Amino acid sequence: MCSRYWTLSNPSEEVPSRYRVRRVLDALAGLYPDARTALRFETPWQLLVATILSAQCTDVRVNIITERLFQRYPDARSLATLSEEEIAGLIRDCGLFRSKARYLSQTARIVVEEYGGDVPPSITHAEMTRLPGVGRKTANVVLSNAFGADALAVDTHVFRVAHRLGWSAARDADRTEADLTRLIPRREWSRAHHWLILHGRQVCHARRPACGRCAVARWCPGREDAVSSTARGQGGGLREGSGSGGRSSLSKSH
Ligand code: SF4
Repeated sequence: MCSRYWTLSNPSEEVPSRYRVRRVLDALAGLYPDARTALRFETPWQLLVATILSAQCTDVRVNIITERLFQRYPDARSLATLSEEEIAGLIRDCGLFRSKARYLSQTARIVVEEYGGDVPPSITHAEMTRLPGVGRKTANVVLSNAFGADALAVDTHVFRVAHRLGWSAARDADRTEADLTRLIPRREWSRAHHWLILHGRQVCHARRPACGRCAVARWCPGREDAVSSTARGQGGGLREGSGSGGRSSLSKSH
């Protein structure tokens, strides 16, 4: 039986102690009481745009781009009047700007034609993932942050910290999400997403996790691995294309 990782993806292996999970969640809640998305938005549509842009782009950079973009094109209706090339010119300082311009152009038109110009609260996860550029993670981010839905998006920080904590050993984002949503109470999914992101950014860094000052170290079976993998130059993060969600696996944080 595995002594270091509790692998929910493989029911034949040991299941994590819910006591430890509870202690970690409580500690993270105390550390990050105001955790929420760093992306700036005023409408669900704007959050969708910011989340699509955030793949391989920092939140700081996305906020700079969207502040500029939303001043002139604040909604789907106004963005849908632009060509793909015109949108690309407006988001040129964002990674993968050509493919993102194509997604935004197509998605803006669909949102105007099928939803009247904004992402409605009634939209389902399945409907969201049919929009160009919207994978499982992006849909979770929008549903959670715009509408308060219970959803747990797995980005590179969530993936890395969850694995080091032994909460999943799954190799892709979708199965990691499945493991986490079985472990974490539903009412805490959205907040846990933000807690794990902040912990990954501030303490459990990809290359040099600060285990010595980590408030959850006593409940973390990955502590030694994190240190030794750092010495080997491995960050333990979610690699591009490793999630079955495809496009969404490119993104890192919200
Ligand atoms: S003990 Fe180290 S590996 Fe575990 S969560 Fe804390 S920083 Fe990350």
